[in-house]
Amino acid sequence: MATEIATLKNPSFILQSRDNVTYEDRPIPELRSPYDVIVKPRWTGICGSDVHYWVEGRIGHFVVESPMVLGHESAGIVFKVGDKVKNLKVGDQVAMEPGVPCRRCVRCREGKYNLCPDMAFAATPPYDGTLARYYTLPEDFCYKLPEGMSLEEGALIEPTAVAVHITKQAGIKPGDSVVVFGAGPVGLLCCAVAKAYGAKKIVTVDINDERLKFALDFAATTSFKSARVSAEENAKTLIKDCELGPGADVIIDASGAEPCIQTAIHALRMGGTYVQGGMGKPEITFPIMAMCTKELNVKGSFRYGPGDYQTAVDLVSTKRISVKELVTGKVKFEDAENAFKDVKAGKGIKILIEGPPE
Ligand SMILES: [Zn+2]
Ligand SMILES: [Zn+2]
Repeated sequence: MATEIATLKNPSFILQSRDNVTYEDRPIPELRSPYDVIVKPRWTGICGSDVHYWVEGRIGHFVVESPMVLGHESAGIVFKVGDKVKNLKVGDQVAMEPGVPCRRCVRCREGKYNLCPDMAFAATPPYDGTLARYYTLPEDFCYKLPEGMSLEEGALIEPTAVAVHITKQAGIKPGDSVVVFGAGPVGLLCCAVAKAYGAKKIVTVDINDERLKFALDFAATTSFKSARVSAEENAKTLIKDCELGPGADVIIDASGAEPCIQTAIHALRMGGTYVQGGMGKPEITFPIMAMCTKELNVKGSFRYGPGDYQTAVDLVSTKRISVKELVTGKVKFEDAENAFKDVKAGKGIKILIEGPPE
């Protein structure tokens, strides 16, 4: 298999339809504009969303209707640059921001390009992802990795940027108490960013002891294991056990689980801020009375916007955040499907797939 893949021009890991992945030789992509670069992705992290498309063939209204290359958390080496490219050259190592907005609509022009209705996002149907030998991006969506930063770390910039955006939505300030529900990659990175931004107390909440322990070693200052009791009761115990006084200043949900969301609303202080980062059931029962009478700020968070990718690179390259610990497995390109199986089974934290063999 390895040699076979090596002989292909642009080997690509493709989701044909639900539960059916194959390797295919795709045409080598072209520069679409003189401002584009072609990158050879070297490391790609697998995300819950990739696995979701593989298992279900859809996420909400995004449906896989034709074969699609998977992968969107990548870093690679610049292979070719367009005539108008100013800041990158062949051989540069870059983190690849996988969603390119239209740049012209109202949302783009008001500085919220992550909300662009015409976003072309890697491995979101109908757009191909990055698990291929070549991938084209505009120059300004590639972030040069500073000296000393590895391509593996570069692949972790995507989930870090998600966490940077969530914490931006949360408006975390030095001295804040922050509770993060869910100790998966994004929850862990939210803890790390909150710490970097000077939060005084960072509580990680999960139902898995191993994950809680990992979160404590990684960035959280306190841990709390959710119990199977009512949300209000859970919130009371959380506040008491973690000494949150009148309630938490900020709570982030990175789990998407209904009981977590309900507990979070009850555990916030008056005037506190809640940010929804995790995606779970599309509709839930929500403690709207508590939201109203505590005058909570309740916000969503979707992907990342202007500055978030660069902030993520800066946080990692200046060692304010460490991402290496999150990599719990690495597989070769020809074993990509096994990596997907491991992620589906909940094994490890982040698995990276190496770029295709040359
Ligand atoms: Zn992702
Ligand atoms: Zn737009």
